[in-house]
Amino acid sequence: MARIVMKFGGTSVGDVERIKNVARRVAAEVESGSTVAVVVSAMSGATNQLVEWCRQVAPLYDNREYDTVVATGEQVTIGLLAMALQEIGVKARSWCGWQVPVRTDEVHGKARITAIDTEALDQSLAAGEVAVVAGFQGIGPDGRITTLGRGGSDTSAVALAAALGAERCDIYTDVDGVYTTDPRIVAKARKLDRITYEEMLELASVGAKVLQTRSVEMAMKHRVRVQVLSSFVDAPGTLVCDEDEIVEQELVSGIAYSRDEAKITLVGVPDRPGVAAGIFGPLAEAAINVDMIVQNVSEDGRSTDVTFTVGKADLERARQVMDKTREKLDWGGLEADPAVVKISVVGVGMRSHAGIAQKMFQTLAAENINIRLISTSEIKISVLIDEKYTELALRALHSAYGLDAV
Ligand code: ADP
Ligand code: ASP
Ligand code: MG
Repeated sequence: MARIVMKFGGTSVGDVERIKNVARRVAAEVESGSTVAVVVSAMSGATNQLVEWCRQVAPLYDNREYDTVVATGEQVTIGLLAMALQEIGVKARSWCGWQVPVRTDEVHGKARITAIDTEALDQSLAAGEVAVVAGFQGIGPDGRITTLGRGGSDTSAVALAAALGAERCDIYTDVDGVYTTDPRIVAKARKLDRITYEEMLELASVGAKVLQTRSVEMAMKHRVRVQVLSSFVDAPGTLVCDEDEIVEQELVSGIAYSRDEAKITLVGVPDRPGVAAGIFGPLAEAAINVDMIVQNVSEDGRSTDVTFTVGKADLERARQVMDKTREKLDWGGLEADPAVVKISVVGVGMRSHAGIAQKMFQTLAAENINIRLISTSEIKISVLIDEKYTELALRALHSAYGLDAV
């Protein structure tokens, strides 16, 4: 019998009626002859509430206790879904991450899955039970509960599909597939039938939260066939697959945005060897990720401005780290701006076609949107702009690249 993994996100299990709806979908899959493992998220909003409670109790909380708290949302939904399945005559049982066990590294708050022991699950599945597994959580080498970072249930599902040798991993969510851009912002966004692992990985990593980045990495590595589809409407979704399974490849496949950016400019930095190391070394030591960087040439040839971006949540810490370098590096001033957004255009067509970046710059110029920073990779161009232009920029670029639905 074919094994499949079905994953349901927060909105899909957002209340009791929706959990019953999920149970009916799972039952239909079981009736069609598949062996099913289900991965669920916490009810929508539940994890945010748990995170907020941690912050209120201790702004600089212990990450191990944070995991103990935020993992509980998924324990509620696995129990409820198992009950809902039993109610309609489907044999089922719930599994917390540690019960499977889903083993992870020790990085509490954003742990990586290192192994999934499937022996117990195999037995349960062989006995005809649906396994309802908690997403987002695992057990660390210290024997304590870990979580995989926000949106981590996608990764739990793909990892489980790989470990179980599942035929496919179906990710049910509140949109019916992967679109050319976020359909909640651009009404003309178009649903993609297929997208390559590479493009999906790039889109996820620059902000398209429909799949967690690590889940795509894992799918690509283990060649798991991932399908993104709606829990509410019966419509074909989007298949994430290899490039050779795609007949007609578009130049640009999608546009993503990330509001999780903050910009820092150090003004009047002496232009001498070792300055970049002096700035970015301490940030790395403080585990602050730096994304985009630009160093301007100064008018006098003696000093320069250095601008870079960090995650919004790291802005204050980055400022503190920089303040400590002031005396040694002798820079003149620091400007911080959290009201920025990163917009990225992604497409494998960029490898072979020139002019895609130029179209982005022209389109933004025509809308009078100033570009603050630019960065590129083989299949992506990102620009940093003022946050207030997010919607305008997305819509204009979407039309300019011919992506609008007709
Ligand atoms: P879940 O709770 O099911 O995991 P998420 O909220 O994490 O759902 O992800 C689904 C959301 O991702 C959609 O509601 C949509 O707003 C957003 N999204 C962003 N970019 C895209 C895209 N390119 N295609 C589809 N959805 C996208
Ligand atoms: N419940 C977790 C979160 O909100 C994991 C997930 O939904 O994927 O981040
Ligand atoms: Mg999600």
